[in-house]
Amino acid sequence: MKRLRDPHHLAGIQIPGDCHRRSRRSGRGVFIRQPTARRPWSAASLRSADSAFTLIELLVVVSIIALLMAMLLPGLKRARWQAQSVRCGASVRQLGVGMNMYQNEYGMFPAHQWILTDGSDTRIRWFNVMASYLGGFKVQSCPSVSHWEVGRNNSYGYNYKYLGSARDNELSPTCPLENFPVQLVRAPSQTIAFGDSDGTGWKKDHVNGVNDVDMYGNHGYTLDPTYIPEYSVQTFSGGDLEPYAWHAYRTYISTRHLGGSNICFADGHVGTLTPQKVYVDNRYWNGCGREDPVRDPHVDYKFQGGEWRFPDIVAK
Ligand SMILES: [Zn+2]
Repeated sequence: MKRLRDPHHLAGIQIPGDCHRRSRRSGRGVFIRQPTARRPWSAASLRSADSAFTLIELLVVVSIIALLMAMLLPGLKRARWQAQSVRCGASVRQLGVGMNMYQNEYGMFPAHQWILTDGSDTRIRWFNVMASYLGGFKVQSCPSVSHWEVGRNNSYGYNYKYLGSARDNELSPTCPLENFPVQLVRAPSQTIAFGDSDGTGWKKDHVNGVNDVDMYGNHGYTLDPTYIPEYSVQTFSGGDLEPYAWHAYRTYISTRHLGGSNICFADGHVGTLTPQKVYVDNRYWNGCGREDPVRDPHVDYKFQGGEWRFPDIVAK
């Protein structure tokens, strides 16, 4: 038995007479037995109502979360890419400081590499030279491809055809083979020195230590210009024709930073360039700041044989 204290709980229950008042004769309260099956607040019905409501609520919450994720994920991805690009730019800038220090000492740009003549076949590459000026600075791969080894299949390439190729020059760095002293760069703020490279390939994933022209990062420590300078076409290495820059062997700037590359220019400042800008002609490569057939006679080979990675960039 349960004493009914609140008459509002009787909603829906037929009670004859004014029985919720105290009896005048007895002065005692009226006791009503509630039929269990009819209680609207029975435990079973409450459990059922709770479960149904929770399920709907859960579905709504899951839907909202899915919607928010779909809206936020692209933004988060983009933020991560931008953070990687900023870190990459800082690393490239550091190497640019090393390049400036080298220029102050030698009056020219570093060669892209030279081989020690001690019989060890040790190769010193441009970034090793620049880092040596920076007291403890360790050359890193671009953070977007941090698994790439620093070395031949590098994530940063050098404008070696114009700033210092030393394929056959055992005397570098004091005698760069393809003579490009600093003072000959007429437009240093518009001339690529080095930056994000994809190497020769774009069909296979990068694998450290593997040489494959179809592979990302293959021979990535160099960057080839849009058109090869005439004086460099017949570059030999150890008596063999230098194959790089020809057809399938050419190296490209990367598109990994939201479609572009972090580039250190010949004056040491860092900016971003896209293939659509740098592969129109040789203006970003030849040091002149513009296409210049007199100072920069080059071979118009962009579409000859092999493949071209950016077919949407129309040949002139
Ligand atoms: Zn990068």
